[in-house]
Amino acid sequence: MTIVPLSALHDNYIWAMQAGQACVVVDPGEAAPVNDYLAAQSLQLTAILLTHRHHDHIGGVDALCRRHAVPVIGPRSSQMPQVTQVVEDGERFACAGIEGEFEVLAIPGHTEEHIAFRYGSALFCGDTLFGAGCGRLMGGTPAQFHASLQHIAQLPPDTLLYCAHEYTLANLRFAREIEPGNPAIEKRQARCAALRAQGLPTVPLSLAEELETNPFLRTRQPAVSARLAAQYARPIAGGEAAFTALRQWKDQF
Ligand SMILES: [Zn+2]
Repeated sequence: MTIVPLSALHDNYIWAMQAGQACVVVDPGEAAPVNDYLAAQSLQLTAILLTHRHHDHIGGVDALCRRHAVPVIGPRSSQMPQVTQVVEDGERFACAGIEGEFEVLAIPGHTEEHIAFRYGSALFCGDTLFGAGCGRLMGGTPAQFHASLQHIAQLPPDTLLYCAHEYTLANLRFAREIEPGNPAIEKRQARCAALRAQGLPTVPLSLAEELETNPFLRTRQPAVSARLAAQYARPIAGGEAAFTALRQWKDQF
């Protein structure tokens, strides 16, 4: 099994999973990078997986379906008419040519219908969790988003997170503002800056590293609470209240 990021649009990643000649793609915001990859590697597309309704994740689906007769697997949403196989939280399904099963996790917050796909130690998490950050609130509630991030945080620490955007360096600047005394953030900044300087992706993400450096997963850390209390000039409880305060701050950072 190989999982490859295909760059699309401005800073999106379409994930291509391949086994033998079969290929499954996640969140194709554009068709061309997928068709080019399939042709270059002599692969056959067997399914399209969608995490949520935003155009930069589904924009290529219609063109791909005109060329490839494949199931489009995604959440229930009136704004995703392309989905031919609706999946729910906890459901398992298989894709042609790929051994084993995918498991669906409902992770609402960025949008209300957002789901993730878990395959072995890989989690395709769309716009929910990014390197050292998370997506914006664009439909779900802060309580939902915080609970979804906690759900991800409780997966095995060797989980690899395949998110849909390259935002890690910008997010690390904010993480450093929140926890200037956290050496893991500084170390990660240096490593990711070197990767980006070579044009390489900083994804997939290690959940273990996110737990050490991502402020949105560190809402119960005393250092984070102290920084938020100073910024907002009032005490802010850990957990959901801290998540909400962090998200508001980051939106203006
Ligand atoms: Zn989105």
